[in-house]
Amino acid sequence: MIIEEYAKILRQAELEYEDNKKFIMVLKKVKAKNLDREINMLHDRAFEEIDCLKCGNCCRTVPAIIQKKDIETMAKRFHCRPIVWEKEYTTLDEDDDRVMAQCPCPFIADDNYCMYYEDKPKYCRDYPYTDKTRLRNYLRETMENTKVCPAVYKIIGWLKEAISNGTLY
Ligand code: SF4
Ligand code: SF4
Repeated sequence: MIIEEYAKILRQAELEYEDNKKFIMVLKKVKAKNLDREINMLHDRAFEEIDCLKCGNCCRTVPAIIQKKDIETMAKRFHCRPIVWEKEYTTLDEDDDRVMAQCPCPFIADDNYCMYYEDKPKYCRDYPYTDKTRLRNYLRETMENTKVCPAVYKIIGWLKEAISNGTLY
């Protein structure tokens, strides 16, 4: 389960969500390379402070997108055919993406460990994407993630500081 300190951060993120959405327009004016570099640096800083094993909120609130390769990998772990695993554990969402059928994910343990950590889907390995590039194209998704991931909320807060003190442009 998520610790109270992080739950409190997420409640604050809900309160700031509308303002954070407006901040997207500010970030869109930042040079793409500078924005990637800054967010990647802040990603490392955030995950020095935030411990996923004290959180697990993404696994409990966002249905993971599942790719063909993930299905093949998981089917091997379950000793079944991919089509069997796909039918048992996945469904199509409103965007026609294949996602985990259950949310919270059935593979998150009470201590926030993923039961299939080594083989977890690419989506789960990549979340919350703040160590990736071309992030200017995903600002809307990143703002949504402030309400899910305490690390992303911190990153956005630090970005605001960087803009206001003129070190990010
Ligand atoms: S597969 Fe593992 S990492 Fe992915 S949502 Fe489920 S518990 Fe979380
Ligand atoms: S990625 Fe974010 S939401 Fe997911 S467990 Fe880690 S801190 Fe929590």
